[in-house]
Amino acid sequence: MLPIVHNPRYNAEFPADHRFPMGKFQRLAEVLMEEGLAGPGTFHVPAEAPASWIALAHDRTYVDQVFSSAVPTAIAREIGFAMTPPVATRARCASAGTLMTARLAMEHGIACNTAGGSHHARFAQGAGFCVFNDVAVAIRVLMADGAIERALVVDCDVHQGDGTAAIFANDPAVFTLSLHAEKNYPVRKVPSSLDVPLFDECDDAAYLEAVRAVVGPAMANFRPDIVFYNAGVDPHRDDRLGRLALSDEGLVERDRFVIDAVREAGIPLAGVLGGGYQRDIDSLARRHATLHRVAWEFV
Ligand SMILES: [Zn+2]
Repeated sequence: MLPIVHNPRYNAEFPADHRFPMGKFQRLAEVLMEEGLAGPGTFHVPAEAPASWIALAHDRTYVDQVFSSAVPTAIAREIGFAMTPPVATRARCASAGTLMTARLAMEHGIACNTAGGSHHARFAQGAGFCVFNDVAVAIRVLMADGAIERALVVDCDVHQGDGTAAIFANDPAVFTLSLHAEKNYPVRKVPSSLDVPLFDECDDAAYLEAVRAVVGPAMANFRPDIVFYNAGVDPHRDDRLGRLALSDEGLVERDRFVIDAVREAGIPLAGVLGGGYQRDIDSLARRHATLHRVAWEFV
């Protein structure tokens, strides 16, 4: 059984025409049940992360602003959300969810969240639809608990993982790897431990060649205690915000290669959802389920 983490409160109930496709989290949970990848009672349900966990990766002032719906307008605009109580709840649940996913991965070898991968959130604030950097929070909590010493982040979301790179810029215990569209958001990129910029309209073959060239060596050289895999589906050719040209088969092959490489090395893998911005929520949710389908092959 693949441990899958989900909380209905991942969905902060935005209007259907919002630029962020909030409905995908609920639809993904339904798709996972329809496909038999999860049962109604099999989801692991995270509670809301307390401020003390989130403040291990973020400025306490910003954390308190999010918790009390008092985020300055300029920061809320950079995030792209009205910073309401449901948005705060969603961000807290997603952070606790990625931590829960990591703990389940350490117990079972592999586990996946149905949210997470908010990689644009940096220490002092959120940005780009990201409120709290759930992967950074999970890593910091696991380190504070003494559960891990070293973590590797393999970020295949099409956008550069600037927030994660910034949070861990001076932390030699965390290796950040980002494969992304060079000409895409964010304009000002923050150097990861290793960045792999990709050209516009990059197809399956070129993309997979890039993935194969870096994931194995990063693991062999860094020898992490856990890998966080951001399986964003926004490199797909139909994505509104992507700029790359991967097919559905390309995404399957990507996920299979990364998960296989990590599991063959005997390292736990925590999968998080990352970005995906198609308008058709059903099709988008099915595409996000690629991560969970492929992860099931490794249970
Ligand atoms: Zn993205």
